[in-house]
Amino acid sequence: MDKALKECPLCGSPAELKKSYYLESELPYSYVHCTHEGCALHHNAPHFSGDIEAKNSQKAVESWNKRENIPAHS
Ligand SMILES: [Zn+2]
Repeated sequence: MDKALKECPLCGSPAELKKSYYLESELPYSYVHCTHEGCALHHNAPHFSGDIEAKNSQKAVESWNKRENIPAHS
């Protein structure tokens, strides 16, 4: 882990940085999600793409830590 992640804003579980590729284009993308399977933020995490993998990951981590694009409050 290159950067510390804040805990999930919904359930308080640890968060995790994930990296993958869009199958159709092989473009890398990164996202941060909640590690708790039942949490809304486990499956519903914004993707960050369009740059090299390290940049995408950095943006995903920064966005998560700033709670951007995350439905933290209902
Ligand atoms: Zn959660």
